[in-house]
Amino acid sequence: MATERYSVLLGPQGPLARAVAGFEPRREQQLMAEWVGETLDARGMLAVEAGTGTGKTFAYLVPALLSGRQIVLSTGTRTLQDQLFHRDLPVVAGALGRPVRIALLKGRANYLCRHRLELAGSQGQLPGFERTSGRTLARIRRWARTTQSGDLAELSGLRDADPLRDAVTSTRENCLGADCPEFTRCHLVAARRAAQAADLVVVNHHLLLADLAMKDEGFGELLPGAEAVVLDEAHQVPEIAAQFFGASFTTRQVAILARDALAELGRAGLATEPLRARLAAPETAVAAALAAVAGRGERLDWPDLPAAFGEALATLGAALADVAAALEAADPENSGLRQCRRRALKLAETLQALQDADAESGIRWVETTGRSFTLSFTPFEVAGRLGELMRARGCAWIFTSATLAVGNDFSHFLWRIGAPGAATLAIGSPFDFARQALLYLPEGLPDPASPQFTERVLGAALPLIEAAGGRTFLLFTSHRALREATDRLERLPGFAERYPLLVQGREPREALLARFRTLGNAVLLGSASFWEGVDVRGDALALVVIDRLPFAAPEDPLLKARLEGIRRRGGNPFQDFQLPQAVLALKQGFGRLIRDRADRGVVAICDPRLRTRGYGRSFLAALPPARRVTSEAEAVDFLRGRCAPVAELTEACGT
Ligand code: SF4
Repeated sequence: MATERYSVLLGPQGPLARAVAGFEPRREQQLMAEWVGETLDARGMLAVEAGTGTGKTFAYLVPALLSGRQIVLSTGTRTLQDQLFHRDLPVVAGALGRPVRIALLKGRANYLCRHRLELAGSQGQLPGFERTSGRTLARIRRWARTTQSGDLAELSGLRDADPLRDAVTSTRENCLGADCPEFTRCHLVAARRAAQAADLVVVNHHLLLADLAMKDEGFGELLPGAEAVVLDEAHQVPEIAAQFFGASFTTRQVAILARDALAELGRAGLATEPLRARLAAPETAVAAALAAVAGRGERLDWPDLPAAFGEALATLGAALADVAAALEAADPENSGLRQCRRRALKLAETLQALQDADAESGIRWVETTGRSFTLSFTPFEVAGRLGELMRARGCAWIFTSATLAVGNDFSHFLWRIGAPGAATLAIGSPFDFARQALLYLPEGLPDPASPQFTERVLGAALPLIEAAGGRTFLLFTSHRALREATDRLERLPGFAERYPLLVQGREPREALLARFRTLGNAVLLGSASFWEGVDVRGDALALVVIDRLPFAAPEDPLLKARLEGIRRRGGNPFQDFQLPQAVLALKQGFGRLIRDRADRGVVAICDPRLRTRGYGRSFLAALPPARRVTSEAEAVDFLRGRCAPVAELTEACGT
């Protein structure tokens, strides 16, 4: 019955086919819709790997909208969040004739805080900001008069990293809540109310998991009403979840507190010299802590910290408590000062908790930039807690992504989300990889640890780039390799003139991708952030070169914590974690190439371990079924279009 229903709705004569130009009925999509519909009815748990081109968005939106239930849709990126809310949901709801109330809810940091804008404006030249900030602030104030949503995304050109964002948005700690003079006009409050009243609310994983764990920016009221949660780009969930089960303390919070407290005191006419001195004491302690670890590197494990650092932390804790006392004494009735006082106490408490954390249950470390530092704690195990929290909600949970399984095995993903018993479904891509793609494994490259490795990778890539006429992604697993490759290509005579080089970090990611699509002969060099969530269809991309297998950096403290957790429960960290993680990451990287039935091209993976190590088989088995070659000539011919589609390739290319 359900089968028929979805094959009609998503079939050639169905409402979606009538409403969406270029809609292609796909059996894979209908199958996924059936499973999602059944899971919604049963309030079950389902993990669906849907290969590229399945059309998974419609496959969960159709049953979600038909169910008539209250549903939370969660995505990994803002881009997909916006796309669902502004484009896909209205289209599917319209096609199905289901008028539903939909809402978009982002994290706090996306909404203008009217109170803090007022505070920032009252400070004249903002301490710690450049002169250009004054112009940006004026622009924000003009926009603030007219915006309906308060979503800072409306302000084009305001960079994510612009420090003014902190000054005009709120955090859970500095929000005045019901005490706020702007409460009735607050954009965040309005967005949350709309989310609670909606049938379908679109959020991101950070917000969802914060809500689930009742942490930080979550407000704990999103999930109680939900009858189902659908998580797209779900491969990101375990990593994000881990952040909500640990704790961190950053000196930026100390600096922002001092700035806000000073502004509140100024507004109240209470900024006396003695008070200013007490407000400055925590920053003096921060400076002492920084001096204690100066020159010792950017990341330090807790046991390696010098005694002087610990002493500075103790002084810092006491100074924060003193700030709280000073603000209380200044004016106990002032709501802004009360909030700053709570923040100072909370910071002191977190700092103490981090110092007291049980070394047997997790890992602690310090990261420093030289001007600030962050203390972090992450527990060895988070999956069990995450699973418990999800089950306690009693609603349906649907996880989907193009990469959840290693081969057809979901156990790694299910273990990481603490849901080993969830139902699973693997749906292959409808694309014809055997015809559309070639996997090239160059021979004779050195071990990735060799100092010549990146140079040799470029040597293997250059003939292919020439054959493709640019149109290449060069994907690296480290920033060091990315820098070296950029440097070498820029020095290669005539290369950058023929093929515009687009380098990660030089422009925002979306701007680089937009230029890549339009140029049509560019070479884009990227590391982690270009391995996933990048969709370049059509002729602009014909070649993806991957330098090495994407094993996570072993010095990463989060990874260390996880591996230690596995060891403690008797597992094998490499087999149970590092290998499946790297396989999933490689699938993501490979997935950049073929995004459409008409796409065609080559993926070159230059890591010889793919063929020389036993674990190489796990990687190869998990990749889409493109034909594998080790001959450069064949790869070049395929790119030049001299080789016919694979059906005829065997003879034409001589293999
Ligand atoms: S309620 Fe909080 S977020 Fe809203 S305007 Fe006031 S301080 Fe800002």
